[in-house]
Amino acid sequence: MAVASPATWAAVALCLMSTAYAVEETVMDTRTATAELGWISFPANGWEEVSGYDENLNTIRTYQVCNVFEPSQNNWLLTTYVDRRAAQRVYVEIRFTVRDCASIPSVLGSCKETFNPVSESDHSLSEGPRRRVDTIAADESFSQVDFGGRLMKVNTEVRSFGPLSRGRGFHLAFQDLGACMSLLAVRVFYKKCPSVVQNFAFFPETLTGAESTSLVIARGSCIASAEELDVPIKLYCNGDGEWMVPIGSCSCKAGYEPDKANVCQACPQGTFKSFQGAGLCQQCPPNSLSTAEAATLCGCRNGYYRGDVDKPEDTCTSVPSAPRNLVSVVNETSVVLEWSPPRDTGHRGDLVYNVLCRRCHSSERRACQSCEDSVAFSPGRRGLRGDHVEISKLRAHTAYTFDVQAINGVSNKSPYPAQQLSINITTNQAAPSLVPIMHQVSSTSRSFSLSWPPPEQPNGIILDYEIRFYDKLSAGVNSSVVQSGGPGAVLEGLRPGTGYLVQVRARTVAGYGAFSKEMLFHTLTDDEYKSELGQQLSLIAGSLVCGVVIVSLVAIAIICTRRRQLKESVYGDKLQQYTTGGGSPGVKIYIDPFTYEDPNEAVHEFAKEIDPNCVKIEEVLGAGEFGEVYKGRLKLVGKKEFPVAIKTLKAGYSERQRRDFLSEASIMGQFDQPNIIRLEGVVTKSRPTMIITEFMENGALDSFLRRNDGTFPVIQLVGMLRGIASGMRYLAEMSYVHRDLAARNILVNSNLVCKVSDFGLSRYLEEDASDPTYTSSLGGKIPVRWTAPEAIAYRKFTSASDVWSYGIVTWEVMSYGERPYWDMSNQDVINAIEQDFRLPAPMDCPLVLHQLMLDCWQKDRNARPKFPDLVSMLDKMIRNPGSLKTVASHELFLPPSRPSPHALLDRGAPDLSSVSSVEDWLSALKMTQYRDSFVGSGINSLSLITQLTTEDLQRLGVSLAGHQKKILTSVQSMRDHIDDQSPTESL
Ligand code: AMP
Repeated sequence: MAVASPATWAAVALCLMSTAYAVEETVMDTRTATAELGWISFPANGWEEVSGYDENLNTIRTYQVCNVFEPSQNNWLLTTYVDRRAAQRVYVEIRFTVRDCASIPSVLGSCKETFNPVSESDHSLSEGPRRRVDTIAADESFSQVDFGGRLMKVNTEVRSFGPLSRGRGFHLAFQDLGACMSLLAVRVFYKKCPSVVQNFAFFPETLTGAESTSLVIARGSCIASAEELDVPIKLYCNGDGEWMVPIGSCSCKAGYEPDKANVCQACPQGTFKSFQGAGLCQQCPPNSLSTAEAATLCGCRNGYYRGDVDKPEDTCTSVPSAPRNLVSVVNETSVVLEWSPPRDTGHRGDLVYNVLCRRCHSSERRACQSCEDSVAFSPGRRGLRGDHVEISKLRAHTAYTFDVQAINGVSNKSPYPAQQLSINITTNQAAPSLVPIMHQVSSTSRSFSLSWPPPEQPNGIILDYEIRFYDKLSAGVNSSVVQSGGPGAVLEGLRPGTGYLVQVRARTVAGYGAFSKEMLFHTLTDDEYKSELGQQLSLIAGSLVCGVVIVSLVAIAIICTRRRQLKESVYGDKLQQYTTGGGSPGVKIYIDPFTYEDPNEAVHEFAKEIDPNCVKIEEVLGAGEFGEVYKGRLKLVGKKEFPVAIKTLKAGYSERQRRDFLSEASIMGQFDQPNIIRLEGVVTKSRPTMIITEFMENGALDSFLRRNDGTFPVIQLVGMLRGIASGMRYLAEMSYVHRDLAARNILVNSNLVCKVSDFGLSRYLEEDASDPTYTSSLGGKIPVRWTAPEAIAYRKFTSASDVWSYGIVTWEVMSYGERPYWDMSNQDVINAIEQDFRLPAPMDCPLVLHQLMLDCWQKDRNARPKFPDLVSMLDKMIRNPGSLKTVASHELFLPPSRPSPHALLDRGAPDLSSVSSVEDWLSALKMTQYRDSFVGSGINSLSLITQLTTEDLQRLGVSLAGHQKKILTSVQSMRDHIDDQSPTESL
């Protein structure tokens, strides 16, 4: 224990606060001795032990000395050993009588009336340290000895000494220098502060310090059900054995209240105390109860809740009832909703309203889509305090349902949905909305060609567009107007090197929409235009080293083509053709992100940038092509946190890899359909770069089926296939060709809804031999088993080749994730398909489904069903489950029921499916002897080969008629295939 200095003692003495009484612990007391004391007397004629009586006539053992007639007395009396019991300071209480010298005749001069108590550390009177405690004189002396006690005048003196630190104890000695006295009683004791409970803390019994001014610190500990309020908890024990200066304290914890006796009592049932401290338990607030003692909070009764900011002493409240009297006023494509407050506000003052918007397709009963992201709410759609809202940017002629919910501070606590009132409205006819942007497709010195996407809200079928433009310098005085039937126009008759401000507006039966904002486009100057042409010429001239005739022939041919192209290709790197692709006007068309010069521009046009602080990564789901795929959670402002999948781009990527990685988001962000995986957004402004999509609990379809082999009724599998077909129908409508439709790229959510995913383009762009699913071919990798023969042979990827893949997915689904064509090699698969063999029906597969697969695997792609046909076929099966009862026979490699009328290539012709260069082509034809001549003449690409004529061949030195025929037959065959390809689908 620490001992405070006297200075500290002095400082704290002012605030001295005495607590419990000091305890005196006696270590020696002659009054309790029953036998002789046996103290040592020296010299022998000095002190002598005598039995006597005290003032109460109790028998006591005393020592006397009275050698007053002899001079030079020095009589010592040594006590037995006194155990100090760890005390550092002890007290000696001496009761004695002294005879006054004046009453004794003839002793004047040698008689004394004092004696000296001395503390001794060992047994010997002559050795060791010895200290005089004091010289003691009698307060009272007596003149006449009377051992009957009646005339005795007894003195009591207390002396203390310390510090005692050495040894277990000490002897006391009494020195007489010539007095006539009796030692009636000697008591030795020390002092201590008693154990005590103060401020809800317990302090143990504590010995006083070595000095009478010492303060000894004692640490306290909180009593049961109390907790520290301030630390350290201390009391000081002073030299008199008294507690003083309390520091720190404990107090009763939550659920307990203090009583007067420094005890913490549990709150009785029906009461609570929510905090630690001096307060008392309170009655439970209305609509709440506590069923056990020591409650810190009263739980709300059923149907009542406490809001996030409510205090424990607040009343429990309930959710509001639904709003009332909801009315709507429709104005073209806007609607104003008004309502009255609910009858029951749940006894709270924080009532607000949320408005939900749903668009329901009349063709598909009950198929409603949330439309909150596409329309505008004023003043807002959540947390409305007022009783009205205006919703604009609705589609024209469209049925909507609005739900107005009443919400208060406990709505989020209730397990039930918020009470709401719904209203159905149908919007009116309205003019189309603005064309958002225009792009310059090409430019010459006298014209430029523009393209634009349709308005976000066409509000009907777009009949045509009106383009207004004027020379920037004319400040709009002479503006011209032209009409265009589609989303693009060529403005001609312009001045060279001039800037024109252009606007466009769309027209429906409801009239014209507003003009778009003005955009500035420039024609080329004459010099720029000539130099563009010149560059193309010199490029071609430099590449041809054959004779002048060939140069001019080929150059002229190419110049003609290039001139035609130049009109289209100057500035063409930013090309965006908003063609309607044969679909109805206004249908959204997929835009290839690689037409953007800057990939960031594409990703930000189609994907929302998400603050990485809103994203929580939880666990790894698998490995994607560019980095890990994680499960996580996304908390967007004003929305509930929900689970998401997070694709990350691993560190150390190249700029190209980043662009390819983000291209998937740019593609996915253009789609909005329940069977297409939904993009939530991207993180591109911090590392790691992420693509965040909706989370699909059951993961990839192929492994999901393998895990659940044979467990689903056929109708359920058909339902899943219907979902995939519906997603693909949407993609085909958008003119998007997937190219890698396979069960591994379908994701399944917890409701077994299948969604098409994996829109990455990279696998077409990079050669990677490590994945056997994708086989390298001319310009990209192809998943052979899933791919239509024309796509394998000459990369003719179309929605019809996606239909072939869909047939394979159907086979995968019906066989619960079996590998198509089992362990056959890719080449064997290609050969088998070429010989009109097809996969047999999986076990227990309904005949109609196998027939559907065979339809998808028609060699003639035009004979294959389209995705809308597949959706209706599957719908028919679902409506008429009896049709699924007939099971197909399970034979290997049935030829298709309607064999493809065309062979993929002429039987006699060489196989060109693996040809990727002019050299390959010549060796496939066994004509490598012409290699140098072809390469030397600049015929270095397969596209130049397709332009070869008999004359060209003669100039290239191919003079044998048989060789010319063989080469030209092959050239014709390649032309046929290339004619089949559409430019938007080539990679
Ligand atoms: P991917 O990069 O698309 O090939 O993704 C790799 C793996 O991550 C897939 O095979 C799935 O198992 C998993 N995965 C990807 N996206 C999701 C998602 N949206 N929800 C759940 N799992 C996913």
